[in-house]
Amino acid sequence: METDALHAMLTGNNDAYAASFDSKGVPGQAGTTLLLLTCMDSRIVPHEALGLDVGDVKVIRNAGGQVNPEVLNDIVLASHLLNCQNIVIMPHTRCAMASLSLGEVRAKLSDLSGMDFADFSPRMIEDAHAKLAADVSTVKAHPLLKPGVNVRGAVYDVDTGRIMWH
Ligand SMILES: [Zn+2]
Repeated sequence: METDALHAMLTGNNDAYAASFDSKGVPGQAGTTLLLLTCMDSRIVPHEALGLDVGDVKVIRNAGGQVNPEVLNDIVLASHLLNCQNIVIMPHTRCAMASLSLGEVRAKLSDLSGMDFADFSPRMIEDAHAKLAADVSTVKAHPLLKPGVNVRGAVYDVDTGRIMWH
C-alpha cells in the first residue's frame, strides 16, 4: 500500500474509532494482570486471540517474541508497577526468526538491499523450544521480579489460531 493512501486510510479509521470511543477512564494497570510478550508478526492479534478488551493486557512485541535485556527490564517494571502478576511469553509457529540462521538472514538482507549486512546481528532463534524454555527461566530467575509472579510459555499457531500452553 502506498504511503499516502495508507495514512489516509489510518486517519479515516481512527476518526471512526475516536468518534465511538468509550474507554475513557480505563485504568493504566492491566485489568487481567496479564503481560504478554509475543512476536511482531502481523498474523497475531493478541486481543482477538485471547478474547481481551481495552485495558485488559500489557503487550510487549519484538521480532520473535524474545526476552532480551530491555524486555526483561520492562517485565520487572510491569510486575511491580503495572499489576502484571502473570507473564506469558508467546512465540509462534512459522516464525521467520526461528527459520533462518544468522548467516542466512544476513545473506538474504544483503541480496534484498544491496547493502552490507555482515555485521548485522538480529537475535535469530536456533531451537524454538529451547529458546522459549530458556526465556521463561530467565524471567523467573530475575532477582528483582515481584515475588509470586507466574511466568509461563505458550506457542501461537498461525495456521489455526490455537495457543498451545506450556
Ligand atoms: Zn515471528
